[in-house]
Amino acid sequence: MLSVHEARERILSHFQTTATEKIPLIACANRVLAIDIISDSDFPLFDNSSMDGFAIRAEDSNSASLTTLQVVADIPAGSSPKLILKQGQAARITTGAQMPHGADAVIPVEDVNANHHVVGSKIPESISFTKKINAGDSVRPKGSDIHVGEIVLQKGRILKPQDLGLLATLGIAEVEVYQKPKVALLSSGDELLEVNAPLEDGKIRDSNSYTLASLLENANVEVIRLGVAKDSKEAVTKLFDQAVEQKVNLILSSAGVSVGAYDFIKEVIESNGKMDFWKVNMRPGKPLAFGEYKGINFIGLPGNPVSAFVGFEVFVRPALGKMKGFMEQNQLKVKVRSEKEIESDGRESYLRAKIREEDGVKIATLTGHQGSGNLLSLVQADALLIIPAGVKCVPAGQEVDAILL
Ligand code: AMP
Ligand code: MG
Repeated sequence: MLSVHEARERILSHFQTTATEKIPLIACANRVLAIDIISDSDFPLFDNSSMDGFAIRAEDSNSASLTTLQVVADIPAGSSPKLILKQGQAARITTGAQMPHGADAVIPVEDVNANHHVVGSKIPESISFTKKINAGDSVRPKGSDIHVGEIVLQKGRILKPQDLGLLATLGIAEVEVYQKPKVALLSSGDELLEVNAPLEDGKIRDSNSYTLASLLENANVEVIRLGVAKDSKEAVTKLFDQAVEQKVNLILSSAGVSVGAYDFIKEVIESNGKMDFWKVNMRPGKPLAFGEYKGINFIGLPGNPVSAFVGFEVFVRPALGKMKGFMEQNQLKVKVRSEKEIESDGRESYLRAKIREEDGVKIATLTGHQGSGNLLSLVQADALLIIPAGVKCVPAGQEVDAILL
């Protein structure tokens, strides 16, 4: 049996990043950047006002006596002022508008006598105030946010909404990202029914394909749902061949990879490719298969719903990360303290727990029955606690790693 770490490393060694593509900026959220983005300009592009007010020469102001300045121009945002402000002069200016030559500061409208905010009003003839204004006050200098030549976003970053704003600021309308991996998903088992099919004796509804399709979609990959393969060599082969036709990057199945008499998946893989391993020293989720079917990577998750979920988090998510060009392949782990003593069987275990915070400490309580078929206790959990291999008892209050769900 392989350790979780060995199994994951072996799986990852078979995956490469997908090819890159250029896509419109608006479609880039959650996509992974395939190149470094370097700014071709300084930002802001020009000195501009950070307030609605009056552009002035700071040297004209003082705190001892009333300053009166003649207002000689109006500079709304978007205009390009041509004047040069002289001694004793001011120009009305709005937030974001370009500073006129000669001016080096802005006095906010609230600080002058002409402080009524009348929309559409004409400029006053003059303004008066008693205040020392320093050069640079309420001015956003050119280049104060970003310098020309600066790397502003790094290759391998998952683009966030605010990144799209930055790319727009830089004038990048199309962005080079990694292609979304394409994943074919199937369930297997004679006992499985579609969610809306009438129940029959001895049958259950196929829940894995919903959980897994949604995990895949949330991971921003393209999912091709192939449905359920019956427990026969022919049925499994048929769906696998559909996946090959669709040129997917990964075939992901659940169930049929254990040692039961009707577990055909391993056989199908072996006669059309190769099977790398099929047992991992973990709980839940020991029967995990990895291999290749007609040149396409295959991961066979266990059938039990919680095992399938855990297998996805532990093996599939990192593999997707590698394909997507995501530099950080492992999930963010947090430290939590177990409220009660936890017994384990020495396998690397992923236990369902609720987390609450007390005085800044995250306290974990197991959510009831930890059987691999108990989906409700997974639904009730906020995290999977990771009990390392070799540990048989975690004392109450001890810190363990957890994956937040
Ligand atoms: P298997 O690996 O085929 O032996 O399946 C292990 C267990 O998982 C059995 O109890 C199956 O009924 C259950 N199971 C398999 N596939 C699914 C599925 N798609 N949805 C819900 N339960 C499943
Ligand atoms: Mg089965």
